[in-house]
Amino acid sequence: MDKLEGNKPSLASAIEEKTAWAWECYQREQERFLQDPVLRLLLPDLKQAAHQSRTWMRRLKIDQFCRDCGEKEGGSCCGAGLEKHFSPDLLLLNLLLGELLPERREDPNGCFFLSTSGCRLSVRHVLCINYLCSKITDRISPGELSPLRQAEGEEITLLFQAVERLKRLLVEKRGSLNPNREADPVKSL
Ligand code: SF4
Ligand code: SF4
Repeated sequence: MDKLEGNKPSLASAIEEKTAWAWECYQREQERFLQDPVLRLLLPDLKQAAHQSRTWMRRLKIDQFCRDCGEKEGGSCCGAGLEKHFSPDLLLLNLLLGELLPERREDPNGCFFLSTSGCRLSVRHVLCINYLCSKITDRISPGELSPLRQAEGEEITLLFQAVERLKRLLVEKRGSLNPNREADPVKSL
């Protein structure tokens, strides 16, 4: 087993430990991951799907609603502790998508990944992707929310496939993957 995979922090580890592992892994293995034929297909699609979800959040004015909620009602969902749900693999995926991970928390009451301009991550946990409180669901009908829900579903499917592929690359030895066998991301789950 690769040393980095063997040293991978658990889900219960401190977020600083997970980000340090992801960063070290990225520095040592980015080339191998970015040249993997399956990740090369999945990463641009995932980035596009995440962008599409956020576009629908803007079109439905949910981002504005949440900003007002945080600023005027102190009700932001991005509270301290939510970062605990992030696996080290998901953080590594963000680095592979070109994001920088913060070294420290900006807001003592906020999620580790929250900045003054919003979430720092390209791809987030499923909890962050699809949570809408009743203040929003009371105001926007299921029909109006439907394109957003569809975009989120596509993002979550691709996210799951990319994380599973990354996990597999982390445990398999260099050069042992058969590109023909791995051509279909769905079959790699
Ligand atoms: S989802 Fe609801 S509680 Fe969370 S920030 Fe948006 S409006 Fe506020
Ligand atoms: S990861 Fe981003 S969206 Fe999720 S709770 Fe943290 S700041 Fe909010």
